[in-house]
Amino acid sequence: MNIKIGSISAILACAISSVSMAAPSTEELKKVAELAHAKFKNDNSGKNADYIPALAAVPSDLFGIVIVTKDGDMIKVGDVDKSFSIQSCSKVFTMCLVMEESGSDVILEKVNVEPTGMAFNSIKAIEHGDGRADNPFVNAGAITTVSLIKADNPTQRWDKILKTYEKFAGSKLVVLDDIFKSEAATNYRNRGIANVLYNSGNLFSDPVEATEVYTKQCSVGVNAEQLAVMGSALANRGVNPVTKERVMQSKHVPLVLSAMMMNGFYDGSGQWAWRAGLPAKTGVGGGILAVVPGQMVIVGFAPPLDKYGNSVRAQKAIEFITSELDLNIFGSTK
Ligand code: GLN
Repeated sequence: MNIKIGSISAILACAISSVSMAAPSTEELKKVAELAHAKFKNDNSGKNADYIPALAAVPSDLFGIVIVTKDGDMIKVGDVDKSFSIQSCSKVFTMCLVMEESGSDVILEKVNVEPTGMAFNSIKAIEHGDGRADNPFVNAGAITTVSLIKADNPTQRWDKILKTYEKFAGSKLVVLDDIFKSEAATNYRNRGIANVLYNSGNLFSDPVEATEVYTKQCSVGVNAEQLAVMGSALANRGVNPVTKERVMQSKHVPLVLSAMMMNGFYDGSGQWAWRAGLPAKTGVGGGILAVVPGQMVIVGFAPPLDKYGNSVRAQKAIEFITSELDLNIFGSTK
């Protein structure tokens, strides 16, 4: 073997610098989160989702930021106690449930993990590929994921979902009835998606039932604090650092994070990766859950969305915090 002394010292220097890169202190996190809140609270760009009528009525000026560290420390700024519908942030936790029940391969084989480059509710994306849903975070993939939960009937399926979310949150959660009714009355497109999948053998329970359960999961109410606690296990190898409970196997964490990185922002995922460099998942209720692997989760909540359906102020706040603290997982952007 012919290893040069120079290359050994380069490796050592690299190792030492990564060890000495201290995680930000709670005080630093608080300061930066407050700065982010102040900087973007009057940013009125974007618009509430209105294809679900009840979402259009949510006050647009709500804005909260929560950070939960891998040690369970919590930083809260702004509207962190206001309940909002979890929407597509839920897709992460249903994916975790299916992986815990049936292993990770079932996601790869029956859903797939490829970006669609198309809108989250695209039907074209299903037809464009091989009939599978493409990934667990577009609506098609999330409805398929729901259909993969082992259950004899919709009640059992729903109970498993709610129990899983509550385990991740360490608290009781309820469905926001007005949101559920509003979406259930108008979700013709999701019903169409479920039918297309079922027709090609890529949905594994009755399409009407799967869509109904999926709609219910999207209507679960969380506040920014609850969403952050739900996600915190993803920054701590599957153990919720607040409740100290193991909520998923550690080996599943990188797989879920990779899916978040590739697909968490739908057809805006590439731009998000470029700007923030963090795995994250958004919901049209205005929530964004971002993970700094092994360190912390950052949740932003603000209802107005960009053209891809991702919260504008939450994105800007998380990007700001990430950049100020140099948290991009691909390396320093300074
Ligand atoms: N319930 C919403 C829908 O099915 C979720 C979409 C989202 O949050 N991107 O359209």
